[in-house]
Amino acid sequence: NPTWAKSFLKQAVLAGVGQTILVLSGKGGVGKSTAAVQLAATLRAQGRRVGLLDVDLCGPSIPRMLGVEGKDVLTTPEGKWVPVSVDEEERLKVISIAFFLDSKNDAIIWRGPKKNAMIKQLLTSVLWDVDYLIIDTPPGTSDEHISVMENIKGVPVMGAVLVTTPQMVAVDDVTRELTFCRRTGITILGIIENMSGFVCPTCSECSNILASGGGQQLAEKAGVAFLGRIPIDPTLSRCAEEGLNYIDKFSSSPISQIYHSIIHKL
Ligand code: ADP
Repeated sequence: NPTWAKSFLKQAVLAGVGQTILVLSGKGGVGKSTAAVQLAATLRAQGRRVGLLDVDLCGPSIPRMLGVEGKDVLTTPEGKWVPVSVDEEERLKVISIAFFLDSKNDAIIWRGPKKNAMIKQLLTSVLWDVDYLIIDTPPGTSDEHISVMENIKGVPVMGAVLVTTPQMVAVDDVTRELTFCRRTGITILGIIENMSGFVCPTCSECSNILASGGGQQLAEKAGVAFLGRIPIDPTLSRCAEEGLNYIDKFSSSPISQIYHSIIHKL
């Protein structure tokens, strides 16, 4: 019975997860992981139980951004991984490929099959028990990226959030991601334009260092939702460096408010 098989697969693949949101980007360095962390922290601030799964093999940076770098992952007698809790209430939990690496460069020298096996295990062997699971995927349409997408088949994916910077070169890469989502049947929840302008802390004037509006234009052209524009903010990157929760610490800042509005648009 295919219906039964499908629902069994859903349960088996990502048990204990309400909704899954993928965070994608066309290339590295645009702020995909930072956005994944803020989306998770915002959902948590709204009272949800959230998991963050970091399968960015090129640079698994999420444990550091959340201040849980170097933590050990416990394994149950059944061989399931228990995610690392970021807060005492266990409302924000994380599993990252970084927890399983002896050295930061390990994953980079792994060959395809080893990477694929690890990705599959990360997607199938974690005891989540969360309302939302945010998945930080490898950038681009690399082999690892395709492996994530293949292993995610059968999982109830709510959709993908695409992160870009405003310049057209970055936007071109995102266009490839859009095509990829459409081919694989993944709903596109919308586009976030990150590093969009810099608000001067002394005079409050906004300078468009990296051009402006590319993400919004692309969203309009592609007929997908434009979720919001996040400016360059040194406080945001300092929080990421120091493992501090920006959304909690600066809950009334314009960026925190933009993230709340982004969650409402999903
Ligand atoms: P990616 O996951 O796309 O490779 P990251 O999220 O690791 O990118 O971000 C790359 C760098 O840019 C990090 O040092 C991060 O702190 C910084 N960064 C990302 N978004 C912003 C922003 N809006 N303002 C300031 N710094 C940012």
